[in-house]
Amino acid sequence: MVFHETDILRAFDEGEFFPVFQPLVELRTGQLSGFEVLARWNHKIFGAIAPEDFIPWIEESGLIDRLSRTILESAFAAPVLIDSPLTLAVNISPRQLLGEKLPERIAALAAKSGFPLDRLIIEITESALLDDLARAQSAAREVKELRCKLALDDFGTGYSSLRHLHALPFDELKIDRSFVSSMAAQRESRKIVASVVGLGQGLGLTTVAEGVETQEQASMLTWLGCDLGQGWFHGYPVPASELHCVISAFQNESRVAVPGPMDGDSFVSLDVLPAQRLAQLQAIYDGAPVGLCMLDRNMRYVSLNRRLSQMNGVALSAHLGKTVAEVIPRIFPMVEPYIRRALQGESITGVEVQKPHAADGSESQTLLLSYQPARDEAGEILGVSVAIMDVTSSKRTERALRESENHYRHMMQLNPHVPWVLDSNGEVTEASPRWESFTGQTVEEALGNGWLKALHPDDVEPTLEAIRISLKTGQPIDVEYRVRRPGGEWNWMRSRGSPRFGPTGRVVCIYGVVEGVHEQKQMTEELQNSHAELRTALSAVPVGMVLADAQDCSIYMVNPEADRIFRGAIYPGQKLTDYSKMNFFWADGHMLQAEDFPLSRTMLRGETVDARHVRYNDSDGMQMDLEISSKPIYADDGALIGGLMMIRELIAPDQAMAFVRSARADALQGHR
Ligand code: C2E
Ligand code: CA
Ligand code: CA
Repeated sequence: MVFHETDILRAFDEGEFFPVFQPLVELRTGQLSGFEVLARWNHKIFGAIAPEDFIPWIEESGLIDRLSRTILESAFAAPVLIDSPLTLAVNISPRQLLGEKLPERIAALAAKSGFPLDRLIIEITESALLDDLARAQSAAREVKELRCKLALDDFGTGYSSLRHLHALPFDELKIDRSFVSSMAAQRESRKIVASVVGLGQGLGLTTVAEGVETQEQASMLTWLGCDLGQGWFHGYPVPASELHCVISAFQNESRVAVPGPMDGDSFVSLDVLPAQRLAQLQAIYDGAPVGLCMLDRNMRYVSLNRRLSQMNGVALSAHLGKTVAEVIPRIFPMVEPYIRRALQGESITGVEVQKPHAADGSESQTLLLSYQPARDEAGEILGVSVAIMDVTSSKRTERALRESENHYRHMMQLNPHVPWVLDSNGEVTEASPRWESFTGQTVEEALGNGWLKALHPDDVEPTLEAIRISLKTGQPIDVEYRVRRPGGEWNWMRSRGSPRFGPTGRVVCIYGVVEGVHEQKQMTEELQNSHAELRTALSAVPVGMVLADAQDCSIYMVNPEADRIFRGAIYPGQKLTDYSKMNFFWADGHMLQAEDFPLSRTMLRGETVDARHVRYNDSDGMQMDLEISSKPIYADDGALIGGLMMIRELIAPDQAMAFVRSARADALQGHR
């Protein structure tokens, strides 16, 4: 579906956009915790349209802020929500997060209707973070300063999730629907969900499962310790007018997700026997890709998972009851201050420590740690729960990335190409300093449309046209123009670019390079000249000549005499395989097969074919006797580059006599 700006503006004016609210439910108790706000468009002609179909167009037309305003305004205004402890989660598009003044705008809207900001959760997807992590971090901080909560949406679908989790102050982790929907059937998905829940817990985050559609999924998630569920099982999205019904339904009926044994045989294993349950929980605990442990007030290991014992290189049982100082004496001094602070009640996340080099000289490890005080029902601190992630490989990747970046930069400096970037208006936003060495123009002068000043006036319009076409159609750019060298002379350059597309398929920018092609251009000109010379030379010859090109086995040139003989049946560009089908050549009483034709023998096998008598029947039924020879043409390095076929028309004896006589007469006459 394609939506134009005028249609979108009309829809705003006519109030076609509105919010719906989907319940978020506490899995353990079945209590309603809040709602996620989802945008809907009730289009005048098309009816209900899904956000995934219209949000890209709204973003494209720059109206996403207006959509958020409209949606949030009506969401905040719902009276049942203002006077309740329920939270509201709203989706913020990547562009909005990176744009300006988002937090202020949200705060202003909430203040207008009196909705408390500490009950607002801002959901962002990972793609928002990839483009500009630094900007995302500062936006996230601003959001947090308003006391709003921050949720990482669609967790697991992006590619460097752990890094993002670490880089931004998230409060909530939303596990993507795709894992939840397959968890009942697939062990892998189940393991992923278990690990993500473990990870979230380790980092002190609220975990939310999206797309909970069945009782079975809800039960599993509860067992895994997931905090909140959202999905059709807990409730469909409803308009504001139905909010009070949903809220009172939850109050009257407690929908606990784990009522006794489950039906269906795919997950009966997580049954009610406590011992079994414990074993299964231990399996999940062990399966997490994160080292987890619980320390008591004396910093002794109370429990730990298998991953941590692997990380420490000490057997699981050798940990229990021992102090951290005893088990990992070399690392203990680095982590002791954090454990002590956590024992004082502070929760600490994202601590990075470098593990000292092992004696065997292997690579040193980088660990990411978090410490959470563990309290009893009375709130007294019993110990510390620790989550440890080995981020060595991501550190290694980071380092490799940095190195390859340096390498790339270095290459760029050596490269004769000048990279450039155009924005969606066709203006230069970045150009390499090498442009200066070609033109004498500084990069600053070249930005925007400044670079056009260095171009030959005749070349400006065609170049702009090429850019316009590329922006409109998405085709690559390949143009040549002359630029004025610092010395004043004009030099040819070739500029090539390939567009990059935004989510709606429109060109958002063009990346390209310029290179000097003056020398190539001169060479091409020379080549063209020599081509012309060759043609002239061949025209003067009273023998038919056909040149073939070995590169694509096609006819390259046909001189006038050959053209006269074949009357256009052999022509430049023709494939060697084509002509024998149309014209009939006979020799020794047999029709020549394509591969036996003299020029084919030369081109296929490099053979020299001596003059040979061939009878040619043309398409009009004319018969002609020809003498054809053919020989290969080699380059200096010995490669076969072409073939030359020579054709002479043989004249029947009586015709020949007549010819000789008339020639003699001519000659005699000229003598007089
Ligand atoms: P999302 O943030 O992941 O929202 C959850 C989506 O899952 C919603 O789709 C919801 O209707 C759907 N869903 C909920 N429960 C279930 C379930 O049990 N099974 C299945 N199969 N689906 C379920 P929806 O409403 O179509 O929204 C799609 C996406 O559009 C949202 O994904 C969100 O990224 C975006 N979106 C929605 N409203 C807004 C908005 O106001 N602003 C922005 N920027 N994006 C929005
Ligand atoms: Ca969402
Ligand atoms: Ca989501």
